[in-house]
Amino acid sequence: MRTQIAIIGAGPAGLLLGHLLHRAGIDTIIIERQSADYVLGRIRAGVIEQEAAELLDASGLGKRMHAEGLVHHGIELAFDGDTYRVDFKKLIGKHVVVYGQTEVTRDLMEAREGFGGQSVYSAANVAIHDIDGASPSITYEKDGVTHTVECDYIAGCDGYHGVSRKSVSKSAITEFERVYPFGWLGLLVDQPPVTEEIHYAHHERGFALCSLRSPSRARYYVQVENGEKVEDWSDERFWDELRARLDPEIAGNLKTGPSLEKSIAPLRSFVAEPLRFGRLFLAGDAAHIVPPTGAKGLNLAIGDVKLLSEAMIEHYADKSEASLGVYSEKALERIWKAERFSWWMTSFLHTFPETGPFGRRIQRADFEYLIGSTAAQQSLAENYVGLPFA
Ligand SMILES: Cc1cc2nc3c(=O)[nH]c(=O)nc-3n(C[C@H](O)[C@H](O)[C@H](O)COP(=O)(O)OP(=O)(O)OC[C@H]3O[C@@H](n4cnc5c(N)ncnc54)[C@H](O)[C@@H]3O)c2cc1C
Repeated sequence: MRTQIAIIGAGPAGLLLGHLLHRAGIDTIIIERQSADYVLGRIRAGVIEQEAAELLDASGLGKRMHAEGLVHHGIELAFDGDTYRVDFKKLIGKHVVVYGQTEVTRDLMEAREGFGGQSVYSAANVAIHDIDGASPSITYEKDGVTHTVECDYIAGCDGYHGVSRKSVSKSAITEFERVYPFGWLGLLVDQPPVTEEIHYAHHERGFALCSLRSPSRARYYVQVENGEKVEDWSDERFWDELRARLDPEIAGNLKTGPSLEKSIAPLRSFVAEPLRFGRLFLAGDAAHIVPPTGAKGLNLAIGDVKLLSEAMIEHYADKSEASLGVYSEKALERIWKAERFSWWMTSFLHTFPETGPFGRRIQRADFEYLIGSTAAQQSLAENYVGLPFA
């Protein structure tokens, strides 16, 4: 098989890259380790930045997002019971769209099927070859047969645990990492969300988040220590812990029910530099991870793919290497700003083992500063709704 761009991974990064390149007449093959159903079953991000939503819209992917997505003009921050609303619309005239990653993925998969784009699911032992030469390739196994895809370039969109980044020699890559001493236990429930907007709560017992996927489907999280097992968290235990971390009035309005899904996600900040190795480019979680507190993971993947697709389109149209040559540098500039914001939101709102009385007073001072300063709120708002794409 031969294609122009071989894409590894059918998450949002890989599928969107395939979509944007197809619209420019560039051929792609997507190779994914899991089945399509498995990819669609993963419950992950739910907040789309305004500019990312506009990009999806402009690429012909906005129909269902417009019909089912919820435009949010602010978020709520609660600190030991005191609640403050950060009003994005008033502060900077922008918004975010609440629309699940699962739905974005479904829209992308359907669009790809619609234009007849080639995707290989359940591909085993994916391996990358000859990225430093002029003819790179990918091999994979399917139904006991080894296949080869020859290509001009490889896009590594295979997430944090993928093969792309691991194929690069250790001396060529620098990795920056911070692992947090806690994770998020998330529960999805078919009940109306307890708050209209996303509600971030700092509490001495640990952070809690009231989020949503639709007017009838809520997603809640509580901070848990690393090493906790999801089997030890019955739904009842989860609801009790969530109520204990919320303002009593909000807790009283919480509508509970059997969990549709419950899982623990570890929290990590991670960046790999650079993002280009010969004819291999990294994008999305393959290159960086943020803790979900700032709602940036999916949006960063979309930002990378926008830049990378534009560089590839320019390359094929003008036979120019210029934008491909600066992809890594340009993408990393925005990535590090989102890393900083996600780290700050995490540090501000979570309880760390070392926080202690001094740390708690500093976090409280952060909250007081924020609610008393329009400039501080504008800073939070412009980072949350998303810094401009390069
Ligand atoms: C449990 C969890 C919860 C999250 N919650 C949030 C949230 O609430 N808010 C938020 O903003 N972000 C969240 N994120 C982050 C967000 O979902 C990611 O940033 C986003 O999925 C990145 O998209 P991606 O396409 O780069 O990577 P992925 O979505 O990880 O896609 C990578 C794809 O590559 C495939 N793959 C992996 N290895 C191989 C291989 N060897 N060969 C072929 N294919 C391979 C994978 O199966 C996967 O389909 C969460 C992430 C996780 C893991």
